[in-house]
Amino acid sequence: MIQLQALTKRYGSFTAVDALDLDVPAGELFGFLGPNGAGKTTTLRMIAGILRPSSGTVRIGGIDVTTNPTAAKAKLGYIPDRPFIYEKLSGAEFLRFVAGLYSQEGAAVERRMDELLALFDLSEWKHELVESYSHGMRQKLIIASAFLHRPEVIVVDEPMVGLDPKAARILKDLFREYTRRGHTILMSTHTLEIAEDVCDRIAIIQGGRIRASGTVGELMASAAALGQHDLESYFLQLTGERAARELVEVLDA
Ligand code: ATP
Repeated sequence: MIQLQALTKRYGSFTAVDALDLDVPAGELFGFLGPNGAGKTTTLRMIAGILRPSSGTVRIGGIDVTTNPTAAKAKLGYIPDRPFIYEKLSGAEFLRFVAGLYSQEGAAVERRMDELLALFDLSEWKHELVESYSHGMRQKLIIASAFLHRPEVIVVDEPMVGLDPKAARILKDLFREYTRRGHTILMSTHTLEIAEDVCDRIAIIQGGRIRASGTVGELMASAAALGQHDLESYFLQLTGERAARELVEVLDA
């Protein structure tokens, strides 16, 4: 459902995303796991059609995002890592605005809007201006807006950041149920536990390249082959990051 072929993004001489190949089938919840600056957001923005690739292709349901952006974007919901919403709209006005972008209006949209607002404990805030929302409430409103037109694919950047534990739990359950119904979700995170907890498959990305990918079980097997006994050690080894015990040695030196 999401196909990346040799997807590359360069900023001047710096390569942020380096010839990524990836195939995420329908019904899968796929996780991009990587440290700060790995290239996750850049990749997701290219998939969402916000950023133009330097080379390579993105296809959503077989449709090329660069050459046929309107048709590709109609299949897609994108949840950015930083919620930007027009402050002078109420929650309901913002959701109606987003639904309108996908040519959706009327009773069915109003009903879905109310269901999503209730799911995220925002019903009481429906007619309040977004300027009075907290960061987490804005994040929940953005998430609700991505589900409103029931896209085939949802691309979501660091969805759990800023959410309280209850909202994070609801979102994980929503993601699972959505993919169980045959939709596809690609999410990024730097939190290993979140990726392990919710994703069917994971790719560990670093320096703009996929260093390993597979189910948690497959990654554990690869870790064991390298003498690592848990995914955290494997992740740190692949991404060149230091384990806490090494940092303690640095501090003690
Ligand atoms: P984080 O987890 O910190 O959000 P990320 O994996 O999402 O990181 P990106 O935001 O994709 O990483 O950035 C990948 C690399 O590309 C980084 O080294 C970043 O500095 C660089 N980069 C991103 N945007 C630009 C830009 N507009 N101009 C130059 N370099 C950029």
